[in-house]
Amino acid sequence: MASSQNPASFSTEASADPALFDLLVLGSGIAGLAAAGLARNDGKSVLVIDKGRRLGGRVSTRRQDGFVFNHGAQFVTAKGTEFVSLLAMAKTAGSIKDWQVSDNKIVQIGAPTMRDLPQFMATGLMIRQQTEIIQIAHHGEHIGFFDKDGLIATGHRAIITAPAAQTGKLLANIYPDLATTAGLASYDPCWTIMLGLDDDNGLGTAPLRDEAAGIALGVPEMTRAHQQSGLGAPALTIQASGAWSQQHLQDDPQMVIESLSKIWQDLSGKPLGKIITATAHRWLYAKVTSAVPDNAPRLSSDGKLAIAGDWLGGPRVEQAFDSGQQAYHNLR
Ligand SMILES: Cc1cc2nc3c(=O)[nH]c(=O)nc-3n(C[C@H](O)[C@H](O)[C@H](O)COP(=O)(O)OP(=O)(O)OC[C@H]3O[C@@H](n4cnc5c(N)ncnc54)[C@H](O)[C@@H]3O)c2cc1C
Repeated sequence: MASSQNPASFSTEASADPALFDLLVLGSGIAGLAAAGLARNDGKSVLVIDKGRRLGGRVSTRRQDGFVFNHGAQFVTAKGTEFVSLLAMAKTAGSIKDWQVSDNKIVQIGAPTMRDLPQFMATGLMIRQQTEIIQIAHHGEHIGFFDKDGLIATGHRAIITAPAAQTGKLLANIYPDLATTAGLASYDPCWTIMLGLDDDNGLGTAPLRDEAAGIALGVPEMTRAHQQSGLGAPALTIQASGAWSQQHLQDDPQMVIESLSKIWQDLSGKPLGKIITATAHRWLYAKVTSAVPDNAPRLSSDGKLAIAGDWLGGPRVEQAFDSGQQAYHNLR
């Protein structure tokens, strides 16, 4: 990753307080890692904190009973120079591969799993997972992050990349104008089911999409395995459309598994056969349906805290990445 062209001006002398960083980043999703990566390249001390078990946020992979499911973002595409350049470096490192998703469309996927992309971006970063920030407050001249046990770190600057609703809550007291910005974004939910099968007879070899029927994307994970090693077991990840997920938001997970399995079978015309393991995951904030307007504030009036996340740009990984880099450049 190339160093940023114009290093942000904030910096600190060596501090007596070991928990004081140049930059604190909330969220180890793509936006947070993009911001933290620029800070790292500028030689800043940076700590990334996330409540999840593993890094990557919605670029996520789950392993269960010997099956592998990419149950968040299924692939990435890149238009802008910075993201194109990141993916090129990830490809050279073996963390990204092409995926011929249909006759005329090639996209890019993490290799061997989607989480390998954020893992690549995290190289050299100090990241603390399984730590939920419940309060953000001024701590002297600095910004303090608090978990349930109290203050855990302070930063000269901070970037917050939680989904909009969570960002709004965290910033309501300290920077209400940024909380107001967060209130302008909206998302669709996404029910995702993960099926581990006895064999691959009912799977076919291509992803399946039919929004009207309720499926945004169904991916036989072995379709990726044909191009990659290590994903051999017959696993199927089905992501419902936004409309279907909204309509079935409060459904019991078992009903969701049965309903989406049936839709898949009806569309593919093949029975799935014996299901060995079945899990449903409900993403409440899955895909951005309305990003905040360009003129809404994204930086606190004192220049110390910036917000980032796909909800500031649009529904794709690249927009999360761009927002993270932009937030870093916005800091004063
Ligand atoms: C099912 C699904 C399918 C998708 N498919 C695609 C696709 O094919 N292509 C594509 O480009 N995009 C896709 N997307 C969208 C893409 O995944 C997102 O746009 C992108 O990953 C968002 O990154 P982010 O960093 O903005 O947010 P996130 O990835 O949500 O990261 C935010 C992080 O903040 C952490 N956090 C939140 N609150 C706290 C707190 N209080 N304390 C500590 N940590 C906290 C969370 O744990 C999370 O890790 C899909 C998304 C979903 C859910």
